[in-house]
Amino acid sequence: MLIVQKFGGSSVGTPERIKRVAQKVVEDHRAGNKMVVVVSAMGDTTDELVSLMKEITSNPSEREVDMLLSTGEQVSISLLAMAIKELGCDAVSLTGGQAGVKTSNIHNKAKIKDIDATRLNTQLDLGKIVVVAGFQGVTPENEITTLGRGGSDTSAVALAVALNADLCEIYTDVDGVYTTDPRVVPEASKLKYVSHDEMLEFASLGAQILHPRSVELAKIYNIPIAVRSSFDFSKEGTIVQEVSKMEKELVVSGVAHDDNAARIGLYDVPDKPGIASAIFRSLAAKNIDVDMIIQSAVRNKVNDISFTIARDDLRKALSVVEEIQEKIGFSRYAHDEDVSKVSIIGSGMVSNPGVAATMFEALAGEGVNIEMITTSEIKVSCVVKSKQANQAVKAIHRKFELDAIE
Ligand code: ASP
Ligand code: MG
Repeated sequence: MLIVQKFGGSSVGTPERIKRVAQKVVEDHRAGNKMVVVVSAMGDTTDELVSLMKEITSNPSEREVDMLLSTGEQVSISLLAMAIKELGCDAVSLTGGQAGVKTSNIHNKAKIKDIDATRLNTQLDLGKIVVVAGFQGVTPENEITTLGRGGSDTSAVALAVALNADLCEIYTDVDGVYTTDPRVVPEASKLKYVSHDEMLEFASLGAQILHPRSVELAKIYNIPIAVRSSFDFSKEGTIVQEVSKMEKELVVSGVAHDDNAARIGLYDVPDKPGIASAIFRSLAAKNIDVDMIIQSAVRNKVNDISFTIARDDLRKALSVVEEIQEKIGFSRYAHDEDVSKVSIIGSGMVSNPGVAATMFEALAGEGVNIEMITTSEIKVSCVVKSKQANQAVKAIHRKFELDAIE
């Protein structure tokens, strides 16, 4: 098999850990696999580079930022290649550019455009373990770029696509994807499988396990990703894969919660064309991401519009709302920053009626009031008061019997 493995910053945070990773890689290589290993910078190196930079300037050129941040991964690839050689296997480290990773020329958040795998394949055919720097590539002009924080996952999946790998394994701080945040519900179960779409929902709802762009890429090219523990290589982990491959046993795969939410309500908004576009264009112009939007039924040519945003954006959003009030002509507005979003996620809900009702029953049973609801094919989200969010997650998790899955 051709396996792409990725080890995050904490997995290569110390020389001992680098040696452990080397051992694991060598074992898998000796078992007969071709190995490409993607690594992040050691521990908090990238953060440390950022602080160093801030001591020099508050306004660095984006090109130099990439020049600086890309060095973190160059340290870990060379050390890992040396550690592998110490164990008697041949290895070569390659920067993103050397590995043929071509990106757009947007510094600090470049997108991978193409990977020329010639050099990688040549090295693999020579029997070498190839260690590639994550998070980086080069532009057509050979300028070094980085992919945005946490981008090594995306490097790994892109390499798996380019090499037509049989498997992409991501070793990380958690040992898999759970039915909910185990800090909130200790009985949460580890999922054997999740679909790419479910994983994207888990990711965007605050379960930060994989970089969302890596999951999008894996979905487009239909690459399975194994999420596994970097502290215990023997643990099975969770496979993120195409939904049709799965026996969909679970209607709901998990409960996610997002506490970084705030709600804004606009009241007595004129009911005529162009109003919603004017409101949300003004917010977009200030780079404010709007999540849920609900418009009430019309009464006397007016209605109410409520929406949620990230809590960090609340001040900015309120100043936009104040600015546009006169032009749009709504009578008043209000906000609530003590709200959280609680969601159930599951590809199985499309074909199972009554899933939303079950969720609402769980909330009703706890006396939790629902302030807003939105649904999609694989998700139902409710806005509730923050102080009841954990209680809500626990009740929903119990109601769907997610603590009892195999
Ligand atoms: N080292 C980079 C970061 O800390 C990339 C990564 O870890 O994926 O953001
Ligand atoms: Mg990192």
